[in-house]
Amino acid sequence: MKAAVMTGLKKMTYVERDIPKPADNEVLVKLEYVGICGSDLHHYETGRIGNFVVEFPFVPGHEPGGTVVEVGKNVTHLKVGDRVAPEPGKTCGHCEFCRTGRYNLCPDVIFFATPPVDGVPGICSA
Ligand SMILES: [Zn+2]
Ligand SMILES: [Zn+2]
Repeated sequence: MKAAVMTGLKKMTYVERDIPKPADNEVLVKLEYVGICGSDLHHYETGRIGNFVVEFPFVPGHEPGGTVVEVGKNVTHLKVGDRVAPEPGKTCGHCEFCRTGRYNLCPDVIFFATPPVDGVPGICSA
């Protein structure tokens, strides 16, 4: 698959990346759209936001839309062909914040397109 990557400040190119294989609790999403927001632009122009410093190459973009094309064996609520707008943060699901619906405060969140995590790679937790 083609991935748009930053190779330096204000420098981007396309590279070939392997299509990821979804784990048992994940789905593979064929991306059709990816928004570029203010945090992506900060990374593009300055290479950082606060303590999050970009190391190149880096994939921007964490607001995707697409279609499910493969489903892990433990996923029961999504199927191939579903159109989805994935949540860009993978949270633990077990901490107090996650259990009380405030998962945006999860201290263990892995957030796409926030260094060192690449942007939407085409695979998301279900
Ligand atoms: Zn954003
Ligand atoms: Zn959590």
